[in-house]
This record gives sequence, C-alpha cells and structure tokens, in this order.
Amino acid sequence: MMTLGVVGLGRMGAPMASRLVTGGYRVAGFDVAGSANLAPPGVTPVASIAALAATSEVVLLSLPNGTIAHAVCNALATPGSRARVVIELSTIGIAAASACAATLAAADIAYVDAPVSGGVAGAAGGTLTLMVACDPDRYRLVEPILRRFGSNLFHVGQRAGQGQAMKLLNNFISATALAATSEAAVFGVQAGLDLAQIIEVLNVSSGRTTASSDKFPRSVLTGRYDFGFAAALMTKDVQLYFESSRAAAAPDGLAESVAALWRRFNMACPDADITALYRFLASEERAQ
Ligand code: NAD
Repeated sequence: MMTLGVVGLGRMGAPMASRLVTGGYRVAGFDVAGSANLAPPGVTPVASIAALAATSEVVLLSLPNGTIAHAVCNALATPGSRARVVIELSTIGIAAASACAATLAAADIAYVDAPVSGGVAGAAGGTLTLMVACDPDRYRLVEPILRRFGSNLFHVGQRAGQGQAMKLLNNFISATALAATSEAAVFGVQAGLDLAQIIEVLNVSSGRTTASSDKFPRSVLTGRYDFGFAAALMTKDVQLYFESSRAAAAPDGLAESVAALWRRFNMACPDADITALYRFLASEERAQ
C-alpha cells in the first residue's frame, strides 16, 4: 500500500489527513508545531521532513505560505528522499508554485499544484473544491487521493501556478464580497437598520454573496467571529492576487484598494478571524 505524507497538520491539513486514513491510506504526518499533538487518530506522527520523506512516495503540503512551502520542497528534494510526487494544497501564489516545481523537478520529483477552497468544514466533510494544475498522467495518478477530501475537482491547467491563479482569483472575489458586505452593513446600522434584517434582505436580493449567506449568519450575527479562516491568510491571498494581477498588467484598481483594507485590518487585529472585519470596521466608524 502506498504511504502518503502530510506536511502541515493545521486547520486544513489535519482533517484532510484524517480523510486519507479513513480512505484506507497509510499516512505519516509532520508539523513543526508538534506532530504528536497535531496528528489526528490514525496518522503516524514523524519528527522531521527527512523522516517523512524516507517513507512517503506522495507528499501533501498544507502550509501557511510560499516561503515555508519552498523550504519544505528543498528538504524533500534531498538524497534519501522517497518522495516522487508533491501535492501542493496550500495557497502560495504563482511565483512560489513555479519555484517549488523547479526545485522538485531538479530532483526528479513531480509537483501537482492543487490549492483548495471550502474551508475547514469542507476538509472534514470531503467536499472541498480543488483547482489542479499538472500533466494529465499525473492528474490520473493523484485523482483518487484528492477525491478523499475534494468533491469538486477541476483540472485547470498543466503548468505549476495555474491552480494558484484560479484559487487567488476566487479568494479575491470572496474577500471583496466580505469587505463590501461588512462596509455596507456598518453603513446600514449607522442609518438605523437592524443588522440581522440587513442580512435577511440581502439573502433574498441581488446583494447576496457567500458573505451574507454563510459568513454573517454563522460568525457575525452570532458574535462568535469564528468562521475558521485567519485574516492573516486571507490578507496573504488578496495581496498575492494584487501582486499577480499587477505583474500581469491585468486590471487591478479594485484589488489594490481591497488589499489595502485587508492589510489595515490584519495589522490592527493580527490573530483575528476573517469575519471580525465587520467588528473592526464598526469600531473604526464609532471612533470617528
Ligand atoms: P494553519 O495555520 O491552521 O496550518 C498550517 C500548519 O502548518 C500549522 O499547523 C503550522 O504549524 C504548520 N507549519 C508551518 N511551518 C511548517 C513547516 N516548516 N513544516 C511543517 N509544518 C509547518 O493554516 P490552515 O488554515 O490549515 O491553512 C493551510 C493552507 O490552506 C494555507 O495556505 C491557507 O491559505 C490554505 N487554505 C485555508 C483555508 C481555511 O479555511 N483555513 C481554506 C482554503 C485554503
């Protein structure tokens, strides 16, 4: 039986590793914050990338950013590594995905660029969307693995970075919808409207987005601000989208101001959940 390695056992990595175990795979897991504490039941914790690479032919990455992902790819590309395929599930941007692919290719390891959407609930329930870029043969090889946690698989291209491009544009739209809904809701409350009713009206009107249908009801109206996606990660995604669109000379005026808003929020509230953007904007408004 093939052994899979998972690097990064955080909010997304741990439930995805769990689903590989229940799918019958042998799974080894490594996390710099402590593999033994973070490995879910059935995942064998290992103490280093080298230990993971000594047993795992296919390695899945669920890491915070491109700098870390590239360092892990370097460690996987050393002599003694049994890794043959690395599947990138993290959102790291186009340039970092290309750099990871090049580093691995030099050691004859294939790179599958496969960022995900659908959050922690999607990872646990096996309903993630995956945007996969790799050659068709590799796609056929990894598809059964990816189907363990993804119910919507899209083969969007063959070049490393094309999965990231699809993911970044999706998250830019998601971040913009949350920013627009939060700003508009602060305006509405200031005009004397009821926040719950604003969301109710939006959800049966043309302003409906995933911000009004999901994020506000679950995490803002309840006052819990616990949607499960860190503002720092969303800020990274929007910033990567802005930089990529500018580098490509694509239209980027909206991206520039949305990225600036997320940076301001993330600077003021570094550990916040994305849904706390509403609370942040409301408190700024009160302070004026
Ligand atoms: P997270 O911070 O919960 O998990 C990342 C894990 O990586 C942490 O446990 C951290 O200790 C570990 N890590 C950091 N450096 C490491 C290293 N050098 N070696 C091994 N492990 C290391 O983040 P997350 O929410 O699970 O997100 C992971 C990736 O998935 C990110 O790229 C994010 O943008 C993307 N993503 C997240 C969501 C979401 O809803 N949380 C949704 C879609 C995509």
